[in-house]
Amino acid sequence: MVKLPRCWSCDYSFLWKELLVTGFRIKCPNCEKEQFVTAKARKRSGVFGPLVVVLMFVLMNGFSLNVWQSLLAGVVLLAVILSFSPFAYDFTDKDEPLF
Ligand SMILES: [Zn+2]
Repeated sequence: MVKLPRCWSCDYSFLWKELLVTGFRIKCPNCEKEQFVTAKARKRSGVFGPLVVVLMFVLMNGFSLNVWQSLLAGVVLLAVILSFSPFAYDFTDKDEPLF
């Protein structure tokens, strides 16, 4: 079961649309504490970029799409991935180093 992340401070459950537009710097609308995405979650979402590029190449070769069709497919893929990315977030009270 996929769940949206909660505030580390007050346990407020974020709405999907709140996470979609804000990116990595998010404030809790309930207690106004700043939320930091955990290093683990950032690494998790970091794999999406290369994945899109790989999928574009697969589409280009496997389905003989031209460059523009593949770019379009890449944009669509990116939009799909972005709309699911809030589920990969995990919040903490401090900014963790990535490595
Ligand atoms: Zn809160």
